[in-house]
Amino acid sequence: MRHLRIDDLPLDLRRRWAAGRVWAAREAPYLASALLALDPVVVDASGEREPMPDLRAFPADQAWHVYIDPRVLFTVEVRELGFWLLHQVSHLLREHAGRFPGPPAPERASARPGGPRTADQRRWNVAGDAEINDDLHTATLELPDSAVHPSRLGLPEGWIAEQYWDALATEPESIAAMPDLDSDCGSGCDGQERSWNRNEPGLSGLSARLLAQETARQIREHTTERGDTPAGWQRWADQVLEPRVNWRRQLAAQVRRGAADVSGRVDFTYRRPSRRASAVPDVVLPSLRQPLPQVVLVIDTSGSMSDSMLGQALAELTGVLRSLGVARRNLRVIACDARAYQVQRVRDLGAIRLEGGGGTDMGAGIDAAAALRPRPDLVIVLTDGYTPWRSEPPPGIRVVVGLMDRRGKTPDWAETVLIDDTGGTRV
Ligand SMILES: [Zn+2]
Repeated sequence: MRHLRIDDLPLDLRRRWAAGRVWAAREAPYLASALLALDPVVVDASGEREPMPDLRAFPADQAWHVYIDPRVLFTVEVRELGFWLLHQVSHLLREHAGRFPGPPAPERASARPGGPRTADQRRWNVAGDAEINDDLHTATLELPDSAVHPSRLGLPEGWIAEQYWDALATEPESIAAMPDLDSDCGSGCDGQERSWNRNEPGLSGLSARLLAQETARQIREHTTERGDTPAGWQRWADQVLEPRVNWRRQLAAQVRRGAADVSGRVDFTYRRPSRRASAVPDVVLPSLRQPLPQVVLVIDTSGSMSDSMLGQALAELTGVLRSLGVARRNLRVIACDARAYQVQRVRDLGAIRLEGGGGTDMGAGIDAAAALRPRPDLVIVLTDGYTPWRSEPPPGIRVVVGLMDRRGKTPDWAETVLIDDTGGTRV
């Protein structure tokens, strides 16, 4: 299969290509930089024994080459070409290739590179298209008949490709029943080789990431000035510019780190003789005693906290603390509004009495925790952050704040984990 440059094509085809790109940039000005980054590669299969591949979707690869069949370009309408360019740019910006959930390469080894697509590739293509196309279906931009839309799959709009992928698992016939949904979007969609790919370097991974950041900033700007950016693109820009960390993982990591500090303080004690001592009768060996961390949980009960998020945070903490071996006797809980309430020892965190509801002062809760005997090693504070804090940390105690409102404030001397209701399902 030969590759030509766009300049090798007759003038009318070059003009059509340029017109499609201009049309696309006018429809979605915030994607203009990304559209310009597309590098057109003309595929010439004349004189080949193999049939010309189906390039009706103007498939792209991960290096941002976009592949053109001159016969398709000759017949396509400018607005449909523009649609496909916006569509391919969307696959690339949303990194669908890297997200392909199908089996890893070795299992596909039997499938010839560039051979017919596997069922997984087709399913992921439809799922990715469903994620993209509800954001391209705007007042002025109409979907071509062959384009996938969630409504054509009987599924809700606004999902991510992984959700459509899962939903399509139970209805494989919905793909099979619509052969016109079967256009191949190329390696840029699933990361797998295609027969028409020109395996030459194009846009590097780093350049692609910078381009994604630039595009995300343009989306923000466009949203501020014009306000008509599709919701899916706004969510995407938020994720690119402020990647959400998974608070569950982060909270678990902070609590583990706090506990590890304690476990690292191994005592050598002579109180109990080591069992090894019998093997060395004349020497008294110290036995190793690894103390479990004493943990106090301070919960903001001032009334502005959301119950469901508090429930999620407590469920998460229960799991982490149990995995660390923090037994019931090592865990105490203090409810706190403007003052700290009586310390509770609870079998499980779901059984906590949440007293309070007045003003807020988490400093009072931390002071009460620090005054307990045995003294805690780790204090975990769950709060929305609308509270005064002490200027100094309690000496010798590690404090982890689970912050349940991103506008809330936490002190520099504490480790803060932002707990938000998205749960950070995707980064
Ligand atoms: Zn596609």
